[in-house]
Amino acid sequence: MTDKFPDSKDVEPNYTSYLTDESALVHGHADKIFFPFTEEELQKIVVKANQENISITISGGGTGLTGGRAPLGGWIIATDEMTQIVSYSKSKKIFKDKELNKSLEYHIEKISDELAYLTIPVSITIKSIQNLVKELGWFYPPDPTERGAFIGGTIVTNASGVRSFKYGVTRTWVQKLRVILPNESITIQDRNKQEKLGKKTNIVIVTNEKDLLIPRPDYSLPKVRKNVAGPVIKDDDQPIDLFIGSDGIFGVITEVTIKLIRPPVQIMSMILFCESFDQALKIINFSQKKRSHNIYPIPLSVELIDHNAVELLKPVNSQIPKETHTIIYLEQDTYDVEKKIDDLEFWIKTFDGFGIQDSWVEDSFVGIEKHKEFRHSLPEIVNSMVKRHGQAKLGTDYSVPDHLTKELYKLCQEIGKKFQMYRDNNGNFELPSHVLWSHAGDNHVHLNFLPKNKEESLFAKSLMVEMMYEIVKMGGSISAEHGLGKKKFLNKNALYFQYNEEEIEKIKKMKKIFDPNGILNPGVLFD
Ligand SMILES: Cc1cc2nc3c(=O)[nH]c(=O)nc-3n(C[C@H](O)[C@H](O)[C@H](O)COP(=O)(O)OP(=O)(O)OC[C@H]3O[C@@H](n4cnc5c(N)ncnc54)[C@H](O)[C@@H]3O)c2cc1C
Repeated sequence: MTDKFPDSKDVEPNYTSYLTDESALVHGHADKIFFPFTEEELQKIVVKANQENISITISGGGTGLTGGRAPLGGWIIATDEMTQIVSYSKSKKIFKDKELNKSLEYHIEKISDELAYLTIPVSITIKSIQNLVKELGWFYPPDPTERGAFIGGTIVTNASGVRSFKYGVTRTWVQKLRVILPNESITIQDRNKQEKLGKKTNIVIVTNEKDLLIPRPDYSLPKVRKNVAGPVIKDDDQPIDLFIGSDGIFGVITEVTIKLIRPPVQIMSMILFCESFDQALKIINFSQKKRSHNIYPIPLSVELIDHNAVELLKPVNSQIPKETHTIIYLEQDTYDVEKKIDDLEFWIKTFDGFGIQDSWVEDSFVGIEKHKEFRHSLPEIVNSMVKRHGQAKLGTDYSVPDHLTKELYKLCQEIGKKFQMYRDNNGNFELPSHVLWSHAGDNHVHLNFLPKNKEESLFAKSLMVEMMYEIVKMGGSISAEHGLGKKKFLNKNALYFQYNEEEIEKIKKMKKIFDPNGILNPGVLFD
């Protein structure tokens, strides 16, 4: 190590954007901001912070939706300049992402014709990864919508995307991590060198100093496909999994190795115009059954846009059939070009069978991008309309077990109706009271309340609390993909709506072993 301590900068006036994130939930404060270039520099900052008992908040791409990276005092460690990798010093290469004007080190190792490992620095964005792997002829399946997120941020939030229906969430694709722990040590977590936990009650974290024995929490986890409400550890998991979806409370990730597969030969994108919600529900159930019984063809993604949202889209897109009630967005990938026509025929027949009259199908790159734009235009329209009224959309991130699809939408309808009635009693407004879009195949809903003023915003929050209680009763998760960060309801950290005090004490106990002085990401998950 060199002796020089990394330079810091004042947060004011140039770096105030680091005091919040995309959610704007928390506007924090900090004494200094550091932009380390290397793992060594980052570790020095962590060591000093630990020795002087100074809080540190880690910043990734700042696209988080939970206030996670907003500091509550102390120092910010921004990972933006972490473009180097420590491993593979002799065989690493440089990727020049012209689009983002950034040079990044990487290393690729082909394991078989179908699998490769890509080692990358923590500040690489999802967009850069997609550009790089395309150039290399590989494919990284996780596809969170916000491509400005850094890989580090997506790992601690275990981000997911439209295609998680088939490919699973980020966790599935993480092979190895380098992590600086707030107790000043470094751990290298490599799946290939770790056993599954099985019924073990302690998790051993091997570090460059002494091993840490982490008592495994025994609370029962939501039985859902997507869950980032607090740390998730199952029998099939390995020690590395403790850091994935941890909301950044255990350590600072500095380098990542992800798994890549070969890209599909063809992707087909289908937008289905359903005349009733029931038609949409049939497609969701049908797709879920295909996945659980592993029956080809399994869709890549199954997304839903509800009636209120469809009505919002109709004036800006005259091609949407008038009778449309609900929209389903479905993608199908093909690894065998010969099967493409069969797949298409299969889906057309299926839609006919469910009485779906109208659909758009695209299989060209341009066509698929057009469909994506169509889908992404919805949150953009909604956000800009709500912002015009000085308010922010309030959205849920809840998921429930596979067999409760119908019950989930019934609950959304009831809660939505309550908000609608509140709106009706308080005067009209250009926007609907709420719109819903969902990662339907995974029973994961974003029910979005669109408040027109502060009173409505408060009422929406009370409905979100009411809904959280119901979701937990259903065995669901109050955060499927965004994490809980610094979210609070009724002055309580959101985590207290998922677990009881005793269970949360177990998470605190785990954190204490990694972070005896409580310096890392204070305010995340608990105060
Ligand atoms: C328009 C929009 C669409 C979105 N779509 C999706 C989506 O489809 N799926 C999805 O899952 N999410 C989505 N998100 C949410 C967001 O993009 C993800 O949560 C993302 O993973 C955050 O990454 P980030 O790098 O921006 O993290 P940040 O916001 O910078 O930080 C998030 C948290 O991670 C911690 N952290 C960051 N880097 C590290 C590190 N190296 N080590 C330890 N802790 C760290 C921070 O301290 C903070 O607590 C969306 C957000 C927006 C604005």
